[in-house]
Amino acid sequence: MSTVDEFTDEFTEANETSPSPQSAARRILIITCMDARILPTPTAAFGLPVGSAFTVRNAGVERDSEALRSVVIAQQRLTTREIRVLHHTDCGLETFDDNVLRTQLIRNPPKPGVVIRSTVQSMSFLPFKDQRQTVRDDVAFLREHPLVLAGTVITGWIYNVQSGRIERVLD
Ligand SMILES: [Zn+2]
Repeated sequence: MSTVDEFTDEFTEANETSPSPQSAARRILIITCMDARILPTPTAAFGLPVGSAFTVRNAGVERDSEALRSVVIAQQRLTTREIRVLHHTDCGLETFDDNVLRTQLIRNPPKPGVVIRSTVQSMSFLPFKDQRQTVRDDVAFLREHPLVLAGTVITGWIYNVQSGRIERVLD
């Protein structure tokens, strides 16, 4: 049996006994990067069982309001009362800046002949240079946001993609 088959079987087994999405057990929401090296799942990185937390993923984690829509739904329609912001080492968002990506897009538009200059110039792709500061900024953004419930426990973490260890970033 291949590794993928084994993983799929394990995943299916774990999910057969999972509670409904509205379960009171799912009070934790993890916001993390889309990087495929955070394995096997962001939930497992914290030692939590499969199906015990909601997960929102995007390029570079929170950074501005990209995950906010999901946070509001998880708190208002589901049961989330704790948010863990999980960055990781060796993130691709540390390898470029906005101007590099803007220039690349303008020189080679995704749809040939379609002018995208003004769209691209008003858009930030939210790269960063100081990872620890970025974790603190993301946590502060959520703590201070008027749409996030008062009393929500919000913490920041870094996952080491080489060792698989997880470290809490104190603010
Ligand atoms: Zn990343």
